[in-house]
Amino acid sequence: MRMFGTNGIRGIANADMNPELAIQVGKAIGSVLDNGPLAIATDPRTSSQMIKYAICSGLMATGIDIIDLGVIPTPALQYYVKTHTGVRGGVMITASHNPPEYNGIKCIAEDGTEFTKEQESMVEDAYDTDIQCVQWDCIGQIVSVDGAGETYVDAVISRVDAESIRKAKLKVVLDCSNGAACETTPLMMKKLGVDAVLLNCMMDGTFPGHESEPTESNLSELIEVTGRTDAVVGMAHDGDADRCVFVSNTGRYLPGDLSLALIAQHRVVTNGGGKVYAPVSTSSTVKDVVESSGGEFHYTAVGSPIVARAMMENGGIFGGEDNGGLIFPEHQYCRDGAMGMATILEIIAKEGPLDDLISKMPRYHSLKLTVRCPNERKELVAKRIAEVAEGNVTTLDGIRIDYDDGWVLIRASGTEPKFRIYSESSDEGLTKERSEHYRGLVEKFIEG
Ligand code: MG
Repeated sequence: MRMFGTNGIRGIANADMNPELAIQVGKAIGSVLDNGPLAIATDPRTSSQMIKYAICSGLMATGIDIIDLGVIPTPALQYYVKTHTGVRGGVMITASHNPPEYNGIKCIAEDGTEFTKEQESMVEDAYDTDIQCVQWDCIGQIVSVDGAGETYVDAVISRVDAESIRKAKLKVVLDCSNGAACETTPLMMKKLGVDAVLLNCMMDGTFPGHESEPTESNLSELIEVTGRTDAVVGMAHDGDADRCVFVSNTGRYLPGDLSLALIAQHRVVTNGGGKVYAPVSTSSTVKDVVESSGGEFHYTAVGSPIVARAMMENGGIFGGEDNGGLIFPEHQYCRDGAMGMATILEIIAKEGPLDDLISKMPRYHSLKLTVRCPNERKELVAKRIAEVAEGNVTTLDGIRIDYDDGWVLIRASGTEPKFRIYSESSDEGLTKERSEHYRGLVEKFIEG
């Protein structure tokens, strides 16, 4: 059975994401690993403890010892696994930004990165087999360990210019979306001497503040409070805090490509050059600022583990996605929301308010639309599009057509029966015209 999507296994609690599945996934992971121990952590969803104990039960039945880190952000678990030799991997129980009725299982490899597709396939193959349990005297044991959250916070702080941040005496508004970072990120602000107004910073798996996807519409309170007060920035995490988004000092929500561009520019300038990686769907703003700052910009296929892998193999100094997923390689090769926030604080302390910095960046008109397409037609439609596309066509992920003044990306969704069409250019009308042109072609080829 194929279970892993782009972000682990996801489902609705006690429907498809149920204890029986979690026990079998636990046994499957246990049968794939030589031995333990494994670290486990959760977000605060109402089903997280249930799924955790079921998966622990399956793991222990195959002889795996478990270190229970409690409720902490996904990158804090990843940091624990990476920095504890002997810990063979990790399991995070979270559905990230999905609605509260969802939950999920994400597997972490020994180096703290997400499982590769090959490792996921091994677990999927084992899931369908009759997995042997160990005898009574070899059953795994579980121990709870406190303090992984604070160790992670201290590690993040050690990666930024904490002295400059403290000296700047910054005031911010922080929204933790009632999620996994409700203890760690306010602690980080305190340690950095930042005066933080806290919104939705009580853990609550029903997400009473707003839905946990950090979109502009979900963050209306953060936007309002940041704009109204003298805070220099508003910041928010998604539910498991591997991502972060920002609101400028005047209360303007920053699309993820702008924060990606801001940090990329800062890193390239500080480093005196270097390689930056982002998916083919990323706005040209990022490429432009990296290149004009003396850096090299490279596209990858879509997915944060793929960006992280490209950085690891080619010595990237920074990478990320336009959804607030930011990767800082000297810290760890995964998305890290607290690291993103600490870096933005450093940028503000040293370079000034975000509005001023952003106003200097090149901007484009972009559009994203989706077209429903049966899964079995996707391959044929993509092939036909590639045949008729005019311009500079590349197929790193989907079909990307580059023009002198913009680009279009036509990409089949990996999980849903649809195509996504992205269009960007310096002219609003042209952006729309091109996306409509390719929408028409996709629809025509679906028909046959
Ligand atoms: Mg997340």
